[in-house]
Amino acid sequence: MTAPTTPAAASAAPVVRVAGLHKAFGEREVLTGIDLDVRQGEVVCVIGPSGSGKSTLLRCVNLLEQPTGGTVEVLGVDVTDPDVDIDQVRTHVGMVFQQFNLFANMTVLENCTVAQRQVLKRSRSEAERIARANLERVGLADRADAHPSQLSGGQQQRVAIARALSMDPQLMLFDEPTSALDPELVGDVLAVMRDLADAGMTMIVVTHEMAFARDVGDRVVFMDGGVIVEDGPADQVIGAPREARTRTFLQRVL
Ligand code: ADP
Ligand code: MG
Repeated sequence: MTAPTTPAAASAAPVVRVAGLHKAFGEREVLTGIDLDVRQGEVVCVIGPSGSGKSTLLRCVNLLEQPTGGTVEVLGVDVTDPDVDIDQVRTHVGMVFQQFNLFANMTVLENCTVAQRQVLKRSRSEAERIARANLERVGLADRADAHPSQLSGGQQQRVAIARALSMDPQLMLFDEPTSALDPELVGDVLAVMRDLADAGMTMIVVTHEMAFARDVGDRVVFMDGGVIVEDGPADQVIGAPREARTRTFLQRVL
């Protein structure tokens, strides 16, 4: 007998495994029992109304918020274990926010090298080589010496993506990465994310861009009121939702 080597077997262990996740802020329960597995190479788009708990879910995955119940495993590590080395886990998880959070006093290149040097202990030349490759990937190779304030919002968000990629993440989390952008700048950022998905990156993307979710998402998860109401293939959830609450939401946003 040889060991199974099919892609299905190779990807059997999920990159993210969320089970029975609860999160309360004081008395207020914001997540009330979330189960979500994300496999290697999968793109999961999370949709749902404002306040439904989408950001809190993402923030629990890399422990920016501490869950109040349930478990969250990332790359096989239970991040809710009090003894976990969360910085070690976070090294492998890239996060891109609505607000780009670039360092205003640094150049684009420095923004993309500082964590590589401080966290991964890469040499300056190595970090710069990797940063330039990722800036090229997001179409900003020629802006390495600019400061963030000299860039459009869409360019700044692409720098934020290049910065995250420069850490060689095994998982990328996006929280409404295009919501703060002028409409004409959204497409360039979505194109970069689509390329990443095509290259096999494992991604969880909170988004209001339904066309993106449908085209690029392998799965779409609809959240409402702190629970997952519907989770299925992107085409099904957006094109033929099973749940009345999903239909009502989609009618409002489409
Ligand atoms: P979404 O991203 O879907 O809009 P959030 O996860 O940001 O939703 O928020 C879900 C709920 O949790 C909201 O009612 C929000 O007010 C509440 N919430 C989020 N963060 C905090 C916090 N740090 N303290 C108290 N309440 C919070
Ligand atoms: Mg949010």
